[in-house]
Amino acid sequence: MITHTARHSAVPTGLAGTGTPFIGAPRVLARPAAAIVIVGGGFAGATCARELRRQSDRLSITLVEPNRRFTACPSSNEVIAGLRGMEAQEFGYDGLKRDGISIVQQDAVAVDPRARLVRLRDGSALHYTRLVLAPGIDLRLGAIPGYGAAAVDLMPHAWKAGPQTMLLRRQLDAMDDGGLVVISVPANPFRCPPAPYERASLIAHFLKTRKPRSKLIVLDAKDAFPSQRQFQAAWQDLYPGLLEWVPLSSGGAVTDVDPAAKTIHTDRGRHRASVANIIPPQKAGAIARLAGVTDRTGWCPIDPISFESRLQPDIHVIGDAAIAGALPKSAFAANSQAKVCATAIASLVRGLPPADHQLFNTSYSLMAPDYGISIASVYRPSNGQFAEVVKLSGTSPLVAPRTLRANEARNAASWFRTVTSAVFG
Ligand SMILES: Cc1cc2nc3c(=O)[nH]c(=O)nc-3n(C[C@H](O)[C@H](O)[C@H](O)COP(=O)(O)OP(=O)(O)OC[C@H]3O[C@@H](n4cnc5c(N)ncnc54)[C@H](O)[C@@H]3O)c2cc1C
Repeated sequence: MITHTARHSAVPTGLAGTGTPFIGAPRVLARPAAAIVIVGGGFAGATCARELRRQSDRLSITLVEPNRRFTACPSSNEVIAGLRGMEAQEFGYDGLKRDGISIVQQDAVAVDPRARLVRLRDGSALHYTRLVLAPGIDLRLGAIPGYGAAAVDLMPHAWKAGPQTMLLRRQLDAMDDGGLVVISVPANPFRCPPAPYERASLIAHFLKTRKPRSKLIVLDAKDAFPSQRQFQAAWQDLYPGLLEWVPLSSGGAVTDVDPAAKTIHTDRGRHRASVANIIPPQKAGAIARLAGVTDRTGWCPIDPISFESRLQPDIHVIGDAAIAGALPKSAFAANSQAKVCATAIASLVRGLPPADHQLFNTSYSLMAPDYGISIASVYRPSNGQFAEVVKLSGTSPLVAPRTLRANEARNAASWFRTVTSAVFG
């Protein structure tokens, strides 16, 4: 907790006097009800911190996040297609600080569940009553032979928004008209299942308007994807002859890549790309494995009522890192999960059982700047996992007038503004 203990005596440089609950911090605050440490200040972690504060001012809440500013993935496909500036994706943590949440700008490098300690990069440690891990994803570099750490500079994944997003955009800008763009999409589960197809659509829009003699091939390790019929109808309508989707059964799975030669191999042949966007398989962020909360899949099994790990007591996992059944790995879902988890923690620290609940998810995708669709569903804990219970009527129809598609594109932008201002504003 916040009070002095003998386990660690250092206050990290630059953080003394901020009220941060480091072990050994000389300052002793009024005794809080519990110390909650949250690792990861993305959609899940930052939401959880604010929701905990909203529910109780007796909790000490500390958010551990190495970056001064968060870079959001939703809408980053528009940045790649030159439709939006990168600065529109970036958010700071001042709103959380104003709520009295301590921000520790460091990586968590280890967790000791028995001692209830989170160890930080500078050697100091934080004690927790309950720990929330929200580290998002790591890429499984090496899972596709040839696609290791050095390859990402030549064939960007752009699946964590930031420099990779801008690298892919620059490569598209520099490409000659008449070039070939290849996107490779992994098998499930991975972050944001519809996003590769939104990316394909928006890159196709970029090519159609800026480099119309070019071609885009999507190599997919699956035979089906979300809103497939809506996407394919839009591709037929907007990008005929420009965008080709190659499913698993037609040789879509990438077997290996040669980044220097910009070549992608499948079991049916090879593609020499001008620009290659390899979206590799993924797993929970590394700290989850170090905390002992991942299973053999590389993701984190949780109890869907409380988001408590099934492998370590008093550690909760939310967001993309968690195995949440039918609930997709999305920012919308991460935000919903975080609120449920915060509510559960607020009950548990009072000695009360967490309440049953249902969760919502809406995923928006753009096929062109003024052409959007959405899928909306309700999920409920069932047999130890989340099951989809209702598809909401908000899901976009297969056939619709362009005014409806334009309206959905506006809704997508408005959702992004609303969620980022609620989480970071
Ligand atoms: C191209 C693309 C488009 C997308 N579009 C949408 C969309 O339209 N709608 C939607 O709902 N979702 C979308 N998503 C998905 C969405 O971005 C993720 O589902 C969401 O970011 C998950 O939230 P999270 O908090 O789990 O992870 P993140 O948002 O990635 O946050 C994880 C945070 O943890 C921090 N962290 C990691 N390890 C540590 C550590 N050891 N110590 C401290 N901090 C750590 C990271 O720095 C990061 O800030 C999209 C994703 C992509 C790639």
